[in-house]
Amino acid sequence: MIPAWFIPVYGLIKIRIEIIVEIHVFSAIYWLYAMLAPSHLTDAYGRRIEYVRLSVTDRCDLRCNYCMPEGYRDFEEPAHWLTFDEIERLLSAFAGLGLYRIRLTGGEPLLRRNLPQLAARIANIPGINDLSLSTNATQLEKHAVALKHAGITRLNVSLDSLRQERIAAITKRDVLTTILAGLECARQVGFEQIKINMVAMRGINDDEIEAMVAYCLEQGFILRLIETMPMGKTGRNAAYMNLQPVKARLALRYGLIETVLPGGGPARYLGTPDGSFTVGFITPVSQHFCDTCNRVRLAVDGTLYLCLGQENKFEFRPLLRDGASDSELEAAILQAIRYKPERHEFIEQPDKIVRFMSMTGG
Ligand code: SAM
Ligand code: SF4
Repeated sequence: MIPAWFIPVYGLIKIRIEIIVEIHVFSAIYWLYAMLAPSHLTDAYGRRIEYVRLSVTDRCDLRCNYCMPEGYRDFEEPAHWLTFDEIERLLSAFAGLGLYRIRLTGGEPLLRRNLPQLAARIANIPGINDLSLSTNATQLEKHAVALKHAGITRLNVSLDSLRQERIAAITKRDVLTTILAGLECARQVGFEQIKINMVAMRGINDDEIEAMVAYCLEQGFILRLIETMPMGKTGRNAAYMNLQPVKARLALRYGLIETVLPGGGPARYLGTPDGSFTVGFITPVSQHFCDTCNRVRLAVDGTLYLCLGQENKFEFRPLLRDGASDSELEAAILQAIRYKPERHEFIEQPDKIVRFMSMTGG
């Protein structure tokens, strides 16, 4: 015979056991999630950092008038260049914290010996699922196949004009034919996406914007028009032009509408309604995009620059060379990301940044 008090007491014990089991199941699921899901790098302003632009060299075979001055010699010593092992280790630590996109840049990245080997190592880092390259294309014909095999899917190629004498005047080298041959080779190799970066300059190449649209339409390339940034005296002396009127003009002329390009970065895009042509506008001066900035830049010497338009930086080379443990490296990355400033001050303080774009990687 069961006593009358047993039923309510049994009920209470059962509920307690169920709650305890539930709490344990919940903690186990949460623990599993925390172990498996990548953590996220978030800066002091709540922006998620998911993208590193890696400058593999500060040298270049061109001297674009808005970037590197003629006669410039103050390059980083080879002994200070991060080695491929150091780069792989540091980027693996970033990837462990949730970062998943890398762009190889410079200077001219194809001048770094064995770049396809480095690209393949980076493409194989667990967590990295987007590897791209910015290049001036002078060496692209030679390396396109190896780069594609290495795992690079997207290319950005600098091309400010389609006229031989203009390219020679802007880059100080007669390279238009070589660049176009490199682009043709990349197209045939079958990169998923090729973007043409055209820095628009008043009185220098602004009369060629429509010609560049026609070229990109014909070739199946995405065009991106870029405003000059006051980086170093070259950037400050460049013939800046506001791209907002150009945007309105192209929208009207080609019937373009606002569009979003996955992985499109800070550019604002317009495209034809059928998606056959897209043009992006990178307008750091006339309409900045700092509130959605998701990137940091690692220079060839291991300096992490947190913003193109500020001096905030963090040196990783000493850590890498002085035997920092993986957890020390992770802690340093988290600390460095907290230094990311809210925004650049290209308008308020145009003289602030003395380094050229080629030193940071654009
Ligand atoms: N050498 C490669 C190239 O030219 O594509 C990669 C490095 S380059 C520094 C990266 C990008 O930065 C290029 O598209 C270039 O046009 C852009 N750039 C360089 N200096 C600039 C400046 N002062 N303002 C705006 N864009 C600049
Ligand atoms: Fe070299 Fe690129 Fe700078 Fe031109 S923009 S000088 S190609 S690094």
